[in-house]
Amino acid sequence: MLQSERMTLTEYRRKRNFSRISEPRPAVHQDDKTLIFVVQKHLASHLHYDFRLEMEGVLKSWAVPKGPSLDPSVKRLAMEVEDHPYDYKEFEGTIPEGNYGAGKVIVWDTGIYASEKMRDGSKELLRDLHRGKLSIVLLGRKLKGAFSLVRTPREDKEGNRRQWLLIKKDDQYASDADITKDDSSVLSDTHLPDPDRRG
Ligand code: MN
Repeated sequence: MLQSERMTLTEYRRKRNFSRISEPRPAVHQDDKTLIFVVQKHLASHLHYDFRLEMEGVLKSWAVPKGPSLDPSVKRLAMEVEDHPYDYKEFEGTIPEGNYGAGKVIVWDTGIYASEKMRDGSKELLRDLHRGKLSIVLLGRKLKGAFSLVRTPREDKEGNRRQWLLIKKDDQYASDADITKDDSSVLSDTHLPDPDRRG
């Protein structure tokens, strides 16, 4: 394992007390040919969707407040957050009060994905990540087809550029239907309704 790979889960580890939560412990997944993605719906202090892409044995992660859209005219804000361990792809449940991200989590969608260019796979994705423009194709249960993730020039107080936009590309899977109306898990029969959509 490379030192740089081990380092990527440092922030994940620092934020959590693993004796008090059931979230996966930090560990780097051994590389194989298939790359997975997962979208978790997370009802923490603010509802958001966690969009995660497997890269270099961890899950690169973005918090998307409004969730993904299948409408190519819609740009969804996606805030880059700390890498999560590969095993997080199956995490559902409740993070107890007083812990980082306290609240309910479901696996809203998961599947495999690839670089749209698909020349040298993983290496190309990492290069594009650092350049701030990813073109990917998702093959999930709810999300299918081509998407782009584009980093904006906006800097936060620490001078980091963590703000990205998640945009559906126009293809046969594009639609103006609101896909977030489906509040079900793809791994269990759990539903996680929006707090402001009840009633
Ligand atoms: Mn989250």
